[in-house]
Amino acid sequence: MATYATTRARCHKTAAVASVSVSDDAFARHRASSRAHAVPARPGPGWWPSPLTHLPGVGPAAARHAGAMGLLTIGDLAEHLPSRYLAYDAARPVADLVDGEEATIRVMLDSIAVVPTRRRRLRIVRARVHDDSGTISAVWFNQAYLVDLLEPGAELMLRGQVQLRPQRQVTVKAYEVLGTGTSAGLHTEGLVPVYPATEAMPARRLREMVDAARPYLGAAPEVLPAWIRARLGLATRADALVAMHFPRTARDPRAGHRRLAFEELLVLQLGLIAVRRHEETARRALPLVPTGTIARRVRDALPFTLTTEQERVSRQIGRDLAGQRPMRRLLQGEVGAGKTVVAALACAHAVEAGAQAAILVPTETLAEQHLRTLDSLLAPAGIAPVLITGNVPRAERERREMAVATGTASVVVGTQALLVGGVAFARLGLVVVDEQHRFGVEQRQALADRTGASADAAHLLYMTATPIPRTLALTAYGDLRVSAIRGRPPGRQEVRTRWVPEAERGEAYEEVRAELRRGRQAYVICPLVAEGDGDTPARSAVEEARRLAAGPFSAFRVGLAHGAQKPHERRAAMAAFTAGETDLLVATTVVEVGIDVPNATVMVIEDADRFGLAQLHQIRGRVGRGEHPGTCLVFAEPASEDGTRRLEALVQTNDGFRLADIDLDIRGEGSIMGLRQSGPTDLRFARLSRDRRSLAEARRIARVTLERDPRLEHAEHALLAAAVHTAFPDMPRLLDA
Ligand code: ADP
Ligand code: MG
Repeated sequence: MATYATTRARCHKTAAVASVSVSDDAFARHRASSRAHAVPARPGPGWWPSPLTHLPGVGPAAARHAGAMGLLTIGDLAEHLPSRYLAYDAARPVADLVDGEEATIRVMLDSIAVVPTRRRRLRIVRARVHDDSGTISAVWFNQAYLVDLLEPGAELMLRGQVQLRPQRQVTVKAYEVLGTGTSAGLHTEGLVPVYPATEAMPARRLREMVDAARPYLGAAPEVLPAWIRARLGLATRADALVAMHFPRTARDPRAGHRRLAFEELLVLQLGLIAVRRHEETARRALPLVPTGTIARRVRDALPFTLTTEQERVSRQIGRDLAGQRPMRRLLQGEVGAGKTVVAALACAHAVEAGAQAAILVPTETLAEQHLRTLDSLLAPAGIAPVLITGNVPRAERERREMAVATGTASVVVGTQALLVGGVAFARLGLVVVDEQHRFGVEQRQALADRTGASADAAHLLYMTATPIPRTLALTAYGDLRVSAIRGRPPGRQEVRTRWVPEAERGEAYEEVRAELRRGRQAYVICPLVAEGDGDTPARSAVEEARRLAAGPFSAFRVGLAHGAQKPHERRAAMAAFTAGETDLLVATTVVEVGIDVPNATVMVIEDADRFGLAQLHQIRGRVGRGEHPGTCLVFAEPASEDGTRRLEALVQTNDGFRLADIDLDIRGEGSIMGLRQSGPTDLRFARLSRDRRSLAEARRIARVTLERDPRLEHAEHALLAAAVHTAFPDMPRLLDA
């Protein structure tokens, strides 16, 4: 739900309005009201712009609750699809009910009252109801308000558990009052949709609102041209939505889903092809051709020999940099794979060609660490990188910014302070974004635009330690070229992972203490900063640090690092650990990214089911970085089967690419799609794990479509073109290139 809402929210940017086939009248009303209520305008097909208050029975309060879920317009509501369905059967005569079954009946209410009980907390409402065939009692628990709501003489539909002895009664789980404007059987009969809901906007209410919006569904604007629908045997968008919200058979939702998922994937593929075409033809880069010995000197001074994979990727990057087109390359490689040195060589290459290089990292800690690493790697060539972060004192920062502006500083390492400040580059040729998924879409975009005085685009190298399965890479990064460094450099150690039962916590601590006595160090990672931070209880860094220092690790020096500390406190804690002044570092995921302490050999992860699989893999990558093998001890009591599968996978394999595949199978691509560099961040309908076939079809049809109509200018493609523009708002006039 959360991802869904964010996606929707993000789409509210641009304002070119596509023609939609909802009545002009409704459209005009919306335009007027959107000015009055400041409803953000959102263009494109599938956008039925009328506010929800235009629906009968929907007032401002309901609209506000729906708005909080990202449902602002009738179109939003129509595209808020059920997550599952309750399979109820048709209503039956009371006389035909069978003891012990669950059934639906359609009855008249004779009388209703609260029945006194001895238990104070328990309030029972009991009603007498009848149909032509017989009479029965209906029972509700703890819903005393029904006595005021339901009047004798009302016609009801009830769904519940039937009991015939000792008394005839139905324990009601769903009810509805007929004749109130909603379709009969909405909550109680047939396939009943269950929507992602909130407390203020429960599924029942959503069902009623969608029911009220039913006439709009039939008028859904059609995005797919007839030739595509005919070729693939797909329903119209209107039919697909009706099938999803009001299915008559179990096949309806499947066909509806396939239709909507295909459309979404097609729009995505069209957009990605267009982005790449745009990048390759419309933008020029500063060709960076090395003419000296800087890169050579850096390479010769490396304290190790590059692996073949590092060599290969380095060569690819070298070729990209020398080209006329801006490099858009993603470098995937697990934590510890050795990406930093590849980045350093790329920087040396850029500097040798007379340009500047910037390295953008998500955290201060990582920026400082990169600065140290790059400083030692680049020093042999006489390059001294500068650091620009929010922590650098103002006067010093201005001095450094001046050095960047005049070009005396050739390599800059920084956090987003690089983006927000007025940092101007003399001749920025290369931007490296490390752990790029940590940056929001907007930040990355700002970065891409920060090309300095030159009119040309900078080369971009994205680096990520989160491996992405191939299907996803094609989809999420269709506009990037992807390289991977697989495996780890020689001498790097494997991490052995164990899932420790709570009962063996004592033994696990003894194992950690034994490592500490050998002079090694250990991390303990907790999901929360302080107790009570989360919705559900879990271990917190603050309390764990106190507990461990007082008890099991009282003989050792315990440090604490978390995101709620002042930056200088956190830095001090990290520095003390790096320097070996503390033995045990209790932390939140602030250590997930970047920190490199080769002497740390043990990683303890508390409440591991609270983390994603990719994140867990990154966290454990913090150990086994030196000459000693690493151990990862995981504590978790997952509440779900999926949680268990994730942890089992973590224990079984150290291969991040394999884990990514498993993760994809378990939970769909959800947050993985957040890695995408441009375009919509999450898929709303498609699930790549499930819709792989649709993805392949979409790629094929996208190519055919662009062969027929390279700029999507035919009338039949107008809404498709609009959809692409809506999905890729940062690429104006994409298809003009
Ligand atoms: P990451 O891909 O996570 O950014 P790093 O670049 O930090 O990985 O490299 C991890 C460690 O491996 C560093 O300490 C680095 O010095 C070391 N390393 C990198 N390449 C090699 C290599 N070819 N041989 C030996 N050690 C290497
Ligand atoms: Mg790194």
